[in-house]
Amino acid sequence: MKSFPKIARVLLDLSLDKSFDYAVPPELASSLRVGMCVIVPFGKGKERPAYIVAFAESSPYPNLKYILSACSGHPALPDALIRLGEWMADYYCCARETAVRNLLPGAVRNGKVKQKTKTWYFPADRDSVTDYIIQNPRAKSKCALLKALLLHTGGADSEQLLRETGVSAGILRRLVADKLVFTEQRGVERDPFAGVEILRTEAKEPTEEQAAALKLISDKLHHRKDGENHVVLLHGVTGSGKTEVYLQSIAEALEKGREAIVLVPEISLTPQTVERFRARFGDRVSVLHSGLSDGERHDEWMKVYSGRVKIAVGARSALFAPFRNLALIIVDEEHDSSYKQSEAPRYNARDVAVFRGKLENALVILGSATPSVESFHNAKTGKYALAKLTQRHDPSILMPDVTVVDMRLEADDTGRIPFFSKALVQSVRERIRKGEQSILFLNRRGFARQLSCPACGYIAMCPECSVALTYHRRNQTLSCHFCAATMPAPEVCPVCGSPEIRYQGTGTERVEAVFTEVFKGARIARMDSDTMTRPSLYEKVLSSFRKGEIDILIGTQMIAKGLDFPNVTFVGVINADLGLYIPGDFRSQEHSFQLLTQVAGRAGRGGIHGEVLIQTCAPFNPSIQYAAAHDYEGFFEEEIALRRELGYPPFGHLMLVHFKGKDAEKVLLEAHALMDRIRGAIAPGTKVAEPAPATVERIAGKYRFTALFMGDKLAGLRRAVKQAIYARKRAEVEIHADMDAISFL
Ligand code: ADP
Ligand code: ZN
Ligand code: ZN
Repeated sequence: MKSFPKIARVLLDLSLDKSFDYAVPPELASSLRVGMCVIVPFGKGKERPAYIVAFAESSPYPNLKYILSACSGHPALPDALIRLGEWMADYYCCARETAVRNLLPGAVRNGKVKQKTKTWYFPADRDSVTDYIIQNPRAKSKCALLKALLLHTGGADSEQLLRETGVSAGILRRLVADKLVFTEQRGVERDPFAGVEILRTEAKEPTEEQAAALKLISDKLHHRKDGENHVVLLHGVTGSGKTEVYLQSIAEALEKGREAIVLVPEISLTPQTVERFRARFGDRVSVLHSGLSDGERHDEWMKVYSGRVKIAVGARSALFAPFRNLALIIVDEEHDSSYKQSEAPRYNARDVAVFRGKLENALVILGSATPSVESFHNAKTGKYALAKLTQRHDPSILMPDVTVVDMRLEADDTGRIPFFSKALVQSVRERIRKGEQSILFLNRRGFARQLSCPACGYIAMCPECSVALTYHRRNQTLSCHFCAATMPAPEVCPVCGSPEIRYQGTGTERVEAVFTEVFKGARIARMDSDTMTRPSLYEKVLSSFRKGEIDILIGTQMIAKGLDFPNVTFVGVINADLGLYIPGDFRSQEHSFQLLTQVAGRAGRGGIHGEVLIQTCAPFNPSIQYAAAHDYEGFFEEEIALRRELGYPPFGHLMLVHFKGKDAEKVLLEAHALMDRIRGAIAPGTKVAEPAPATVERIAGKYRFTALFMGDKLAGLRRAVKQAIYARKRAEVEIHADMDAISFL
């Protein structure tokens, strides 16, 4: 006879990193499962929902209270997801509750989203309706509606009826009042794609390289042996058809009745990307991202939960789509830093995808034109399998020509370096003349970087953060890009009163202003987080760009990725030096290389050969040189040698511990207290940097200190740090660990 569990371990939504034991009442014993939500008594006379994470035979605690009931308002989570959450809590040093909470979108977790309903209309019994029509031929509108209704045996909604008949809603209401029509409320799903027509696409005949990649994936999908690696790195140059490989791999997984998750960085989760999946798989796709309303997100998630869709496409959090028979997880642009979440749990979705794949026996495909140094290293050492797409799907569409322009040679007599080289201006002018389009990229928004006074040396700083403010011309404001504080820009120096106050540096807004002067009559649009405040604006600009209503698109990294516009034949990088040397960011070379390659990849995707121009004052920098030569492996070899020498990732893991608070002295005191507690857990060979002021010392009025640990044996340390954090009583000083941090900052 099967024995039923007596004790359930549950997590309440409390952030204590602690589970609680409850007794299982006999009447629930056969129905409870790990991952289910139950209601438990907690505190004086209070009831709370809680998730079951394990069952036990005995408990160290006496006199356990009983679980009250199964909770109907909260969906159950698959067992495997609960285990994934627990692993994340351990690896990323956060409370287990925080990790488990993160598995569910807020809209599902809080149980506040109600099912959406719609009114459906039916004719009353056929005879009386027919009688009415015959007896009242002059009530034309009413008769038209009734006749239409008689044709809808399953009922119809008002939109459809009114559209078909052209009659007003008031008439429909009167018929309901006359009892000739009756109504019923029916549940409907919110559909983010309502009204969007998407043309279906068929699988394309794969190129030779695509076929080889697909064969590798298919073999791994169906005949993977125990212990064989379950990750394929798909390294394909921009425009080589990685997405087509994803689509055909998903089709294979679906044929076997299994499911697939596709992760894309939030920034490239454009309608264009989503459409490609919808076009191939129709309504078997659910989309999960932050642009949806709460209701839509709830319904999209429910489609996965109830098994009605087989594919989930989305940003980071789509990784937790509650599938139960997962075959495939695809991480597109796997190198993208936005896969790292900046609040707890501070996970990297790419890495967690690899872990979920292992847990659930699913294949993981990591795709990129510029793989992260870590992933490519794993492929080179045989930990991952490697598939390569070295050519664009149509080999006659060559990679664009890239020219590096040394801006130091463009300086005028006074030594001032202009924004644009003569070559850049000429290239753009040429495209306008030929009716082709240009993209100008600058990794910095705003009009000018900072406001300073040459007379007294004053620089406008954020009062709450230790960073300079950025000037925005359109609304004459200074704003802080760290804490979002905004204030009016002064007209004279607030310190010495000098009217000579100046703006230094360039931002996208300034580029736009100057370009509008240089190219009178050209149609110019700007895309950055200042102008694209709503997703609909983004779609609008992209759609008019596609229609050729814009000659020049200026933007930040928002335009670097994923855009596929065949008529773009020129890409200009205004200042490649921004981001090249960021102190403390050991990935700055890698990121620059990736960004330049991605941006360059927007040129010449149609039939016309593309041209890219990179403006820089450091023309011999390796990341610029290798990007210009389309030489990923050359870049990788140079970078990996450096990392090996310094013991940086992937040769060691990097963990930062951040401390912050209003009182700098208290923060430092607590930091040292924590260091004392964990020192014994530091494995030999681990590099340690004691708590020191962070690069940006103060943000939003809080002082920040950081300690750093780097090495290949951090497990014991991780546990010690987590314990020390959760053992603290007062939390005047905030402390958190960041495992596999992106940079030293
Ligand atoms: P990537 O994702 O690698 O940047 P895409 O998947 O966007 O590349 O492919 C670029 C273009 O090539 C798309 O317009 C796509 O439809 C087309 N394409 C890809 N593979 C093929 C193929 N085998 N045959 C024809 N066209 C293809
Ligand atoms: Zn001054
Ligand atoms: Zn600030």
